[in-house]
Amino acid sequence: MGTRTAIEWTDATWNPVTGCTKVSSGCEHCYAERLARLRLRDAYLRRRPAVDTESNRNDPFAVRLWPERLRQPLRWGEPRMVFVNSMSDLFHRDIPEAFVLEVFEVMMKADWHIYQVLTKRPSRVARFWNRFHGRLATSEVPPHIWIGTSVENWEVSYRVRHLRLIPASVRFLSCEPLLGPIELDLEGIHWVIVGGESGPGHRPMNMLWARRIRDNCRRAGVPFFFKQVGGKTAKAGGRQLDGREWNEMPCMVCRSGGVSAHLVNSYAATGSSI
Ligand code: SF4
Repeated sequence: MGTRTAIEWTDATWNPVTGCTKVSSGCEHCYAERLARLRLRDAYLRRRPAVDTESNRNDPFAVRLWPERLRQPLRWGEPRMVFVNSMSDLFHRDIPEAFVLEVFEVMMKADWHIYQVLTKRPSRVARFWNRFHGRLATSEVPPHIWIGTSVENWEVSYRVRHLRLIPASVRFLSCEPLLGPIELDLEGIHWVIVGGESGPGHRPMNMLWARRIRDNCRRAGVPFFFKQVGGKTAKAGGRQLDGREWNEMPCMVCRSGGVSAHLVNSYAATGSSI
C-alpha cells in the first residue's frame, strides 16, 4: 500500500497501519472496512493483529502494524501530498504510542512532503503531543504536518474543541460525509472540507447544510473546499455548489506556488476512509 493512489483525494497514501473500529455515524460505510473485508482480506489475515486475540485474529479489519512501510515517504523524492493512514486511524487505541512516534519521526525527517493526518480521535492526538513533543524536539507540530478531524454532524462537533488543543499550524475539518446541519466554531481552524457521501447506501446531503458551512467559512476567512455532492459514485453529483467549484486550500499551500494547482486537481472526488 502506498505510492501513487487511485484515490483522487490526495497525491499518495501511506498506510503503516491498517484496520480500525467504528466510532460514529460517519463510519457506517467505511471504505477502509469494505476493502479490508473484500479485496485485502487474505493479505491482512496473514498478519497477526496489534492486539492479538482470537476474535481479532480472524477479523481482517482489526488493527495491524506494517513497520516495513514506515520508511516509504523517505524514498519518495518528489514532494507529495500524503494522506496518512487512509486504511485506518493513526490514533486508534490499539496502536502503541511508540509506533505513532515512529510515524511522526518519519514525517519530520521526510519534510519535503505535506502530510494530512485525519482522525476521529483528536483527543488522543492532543495527549500524544503533550507526552512526546519533547522527543520530537519541537513544541509545535511543524507546518508540513496537517492535523484534521472529521465532523460529520453536530453530535461529534466536540472534536473541534479537542483539535484546537493541538499546537499545529494547519488544523483542518473534514465534514464528510456531511450527515446533518452543523454550526461550526471556526476559531483556530485553518481549512474546512465538505463532501456528500458516495457509494453503496449513500446518505444524501442537503445542500443547505453545505452552504451554511461555506458561508460560515467565508465570514471567518477560513479556506473552504467543496469535494463532491455525492451519490451512487463519487462523481455522480459533481463538484459544484451554487454554480461553481470551491477549491480553496490552506494559505501555506497557496504560497508554495506550483504545488497548489496540482493538489486542487488531485483533491476532487472519491471517498476517504476517515
Ligand atoms: S477508518 Fe475512519 S471511517 Fe473507518 S472505522 Fe476507522 S475512523 Fe471510522
